[in-house]
Amino acid sequence: MTIPNLSQSRVLVVGAGLMGAGIAQVAAQAGHAVQLFDNRPGAAEAAKAKLAQTLEGLVAKCKLTAEAAAATLARITPVQAMAADVELVVEAVVENLDVKRALFAELEALLPDDAVIATNTSSISVTALARGMRRPERLVGMHFFNPVPLMKLVEVVSGLGTDPAVAQAVFELAARWGKVPVHARSTPGFIVNRIARPYYAEALMLLQDRAAAPEVIDAVLRAAGFRMGPCELMDLIGHDTNFAVTQSVFAANFFDRRFTPSLVQQELVDAGFLGRKSGRGFYRYP
Ligand code: NAD
Repeated sequence: MTIPNLSQSRVLVVGAGLMGAGIAQVAAQAGHAVQLFDNRPGAAEAAKAKLAQTLEGLVAKCKLTAEAAAATLARITPVQAMAADVELVVEAVVENLDVKRALFAELEALLPDDAVIATNTSSISVTALARGMRRPERLVGMHFFNPVPLMKLVEVVSGLGTDPAVAQAVFELAARWGKVPVHARSTPGFIVNRIARPYYAEALMLLQDRAAAPEVIDAVLRAAGFRMGPCELMDLIGHDTNFAVTQSVFAANFFDRRFTPSLVQQELVDAGFLGRKSGRGFYRYP
């Protein structure tokens, strides 16, 4: 397919949660005009207001000029409906195959044929997500990490139908945005989540066995050189998202026991203790 010049692209970010808000910020800081859409009323506006506070904090700490902060904010427009006048969509809605597929069908009805659709899925097969799309070659994984403005890594994930030129264009765009992109093929969990799932699973087993409290597990891993322990990291990711990713990787690996989801995490999700974003997970947040 002919690919538009993504370095100058207008960008639509769909999903204004933890990840979508961060992706909108990074794209706007790189100079793109960004539309931010969420189907939860007020979510896109709230994400922009929170970003304004974050940028204000950076200006106060002299890490950003007031002009750069104002320009970044001015480039982000919360929108009430998805529009067609973009060359790139980055999707960051809930980790659910059916929701994402329905969204792509809606997007394909709107977008020009050469617009690229990038999905921030953590674990769902890009090959499977593309099934049923009119132009599966335009779908590629663009897997950012949390918090998006700080984490350098981006996995650029190709499904069976992804046009290699689309993957390369998104790879180059991520590099332009100051990230460290890597190409990965769409296998269950890609690279990072393939390695990280058993890490979380083992921590959750320790908790289930009452071997140690979250504080202790986190302190041990931090002392061993990890930037964050597994419990505080799961609180940061969000237990709803983390649990959905584990379920998806478990099923995709034909229910290999190494990837078994945890009842401890299921309980947290059932209780609505989703981590930082809900004010309580393993820890409480003011
Ligand atoms: P989140 O729950 O914070 O945000 C998801 C947002 O999507 C919500 O605001 C919700 O209202 C919105 N949404 C749901 N369905 C929608 C639809 N059909 N149209 C528009 N908006 C819709 O979740 P998140 O943590 O930002 O995760 C989003 C995606 O990013 C998931 O695929 C997740 O696996 C992936 N991801 C998450 C992390 C992480 O650490 N949280 C890291 C990497 C990738």
